[in-house]
Amino acid sequence: MNKGVNQSYWSASVELPKFPELKENTDSNVLVAGGGISGLMNAYQFAVKGYDVTLIEGNELVSGTTKNTTARITAQQGLLYSQLKNQKGADTAQLYYESQMSAIEEIERIVTKYNIDCDFKRTDSVIYAEAEHEKSVKDLEKEDKVYKELSIDGYLSTDQNNLPFETAGRLVMKNQAEFHPLKFLKGIIEVLQGLNVTIYEHTRAKSTDGNTLSTGDNYKITFDYLIIATHFPFLDLENFYFNSFKISYGYGLVAETSTPIPENISLSGYDGAGLSIRNIVDKSNALPLLLFGGLSHGSYEQKDMDKQLDELEHYAGQKTVNEKTLYAYQAQDLMTADSLPFIGYFNKKNENYFVASGFNKYGMANGVLSSMIISDLAEGKNNMYREMLDPNRKKGTFQQLKQHLTNPMHVAESEIKSMTESHPDFDTLELDQGEGTVAKDGPVKKGVYRDGDIYYVVSNRCTHMGCSLNWNNDDKTWDCPCHGSRFNYTGKVIEGPATDNLDTDIRPYK
Ligand SMILES: Cc1cc2nc3c(=O)[nH]c(=O)nc-3n(C[C@H](O)[C@H](O)[C@H](O)COP(=O)(O)OP(=O)(O)OC[C@H]3O[C@@H](n4cnc5c(N)ncnc54)[C@H](O)[C@@H]3O)c2cc1C
Repeated sequence: MNKGVNQSYWSASVELPKFPELKENTDSNVLVAGGGISGLMNAYQFAVKGYDVTLIEGNELVSGTTKNTTARITAQQGLLYSQLKNQKGADTAQLYYESQMSAIEEIERIVTKYNIDCDFKRTDSVIYAEAEHEKSVKDLEKEDKVYKELSIDGYLSTDQNNLPFETAGRLVMKNQAEFHPLKFLKGIIEVLQGLNVTIYEHTRAKSTDGNTLSTGDNYKITFDYLIIATHFPFLDLENFYFNSFKISYGYGLVAETSTPIPENISLSGYDGAGLSIRNIVDKSNALPLLLFGGLSHGSYEQKDMDKQLDELEHYAGQKTVNEKTLYAYQAQDLMTADSLPFIGYFNKKNENYFVASGFNKYGMANGVLSSMIISDLAEGKNNMYREMLDPNRKKGTFQQLKQHLTNPMHVAESEIKSMTESHPDFDTLELDQGEGTVAKDGPVKKGVYRDGDIYYVVSNRCTHMGCSLNWNNDDKTWDCPCHGSRFNYTGKVIEGPATDNLDTDIRPYK
């Protein structure tokens, strides 16, 4: 494996336009914070309805989770429908399926309307049980039964398959889709430019006061409607958002293969290594390309990215004959207790604040769905999915919440581990070029990174809620295990919910 690649095929194959930083106070009818799939699609829906829209992005457009997604656009989201039926009833399960299908149709409609060249195609989604896990077929059977009750177009098969590897069973959901997410969003950005949407990059939303938002550089933007699409909501203390999500890391790799999977399916593993596998359309490559995803774990479990990617490469090699790994990377998404996203009114206090978050690794359809729901709500229209996905709903069953609350416990464990770990003294530190570590600086812990002849010495506490930061040597970042904030080695926020940079001082390397 080419160590430290950490770049997705999507971002390597598309160049997006650049936009200026905000350098003055301004106002806008609709203000969208965040330029991933949710933010861009919300900007789109409002702009086509004739609103004056401004979008601000803390880094560059599509530099968050969307650039590292697997981009399967699917209503098949694990064995979700039996879970939803048990916990929320058949009507909710049915409604959720319909919501996802309507978002897929909306994507297809937009692709056709604007003729966006993004390799969009309809595929069947398939959850497979590994050949040696016959017991898993029982779970697939239960889910298949619910498909039948809800008239979901799909079936279970245990016959011989046309895959390059054996399975014990496959649950198929027909008529789903996949695309190249950055080609799609590049097309959307062009549509936004045509609709006169104002876009600012390197402009971070920091706080709000009524109908005014302040940026990291303290410019003010007044708005009528605010859409919070920053992945983890940047205003998270309100409404206890920090307590609502678990951060899940996942890994992806793209390999050239001599044994591709059929073109019209995308796969998701139910058991074993649980690998998802999809095709990538790339006519310039001599061999077909496959994207593998998997090995998810919670943010509080600190794992070495290179080792995870080696493991992913190993499991991928058990499925297909792969000649060469071209891209490998890590990404994170937000999981909710009841497995449904948070889309709608941000809180009960501000009728003009909306949020789209908690996509449970299914943000393609849900990012687009968020734009359909939120633009309806802002116009005072009833939307049939509003209640089901209301961020102010009861967040889950007792069992689900109990499980979700292991998050603070894990965080406390990782905090204790960090406190008891021994760290070198800054005064005697000898770091190699490009190396980082936590070090003792008098009575406090600091993060230290060597860049040539200088050390960047940063505070080791996340500016969001004060958790200790872990050094990520592959990305050269300081990562927070609590809520997923990330800072580059100079201390600049690159992923929220934190909005403030770390305190940094620069000292000479001696
Ligand atoms: C490994 C993995 C595989 C996945 N595979 C799939 C899949 O196959 N299908 C699927 O549907 N989903 C998948 N997902 C989930 C999906 O990728 C995400 O849910 C989705 O991309 C999230 O989009 P977003 O716009 O909400 O967030 P992001 O893409 O993270 O966008 C948020 C943007 O907001 C910006 N931002 C943050 N804070 C601020 C601030 N304060 N001010 C201004 N801007 C800010 C960020 O820089 C970023 O650009 C996967 C996720 C992972 C981790």
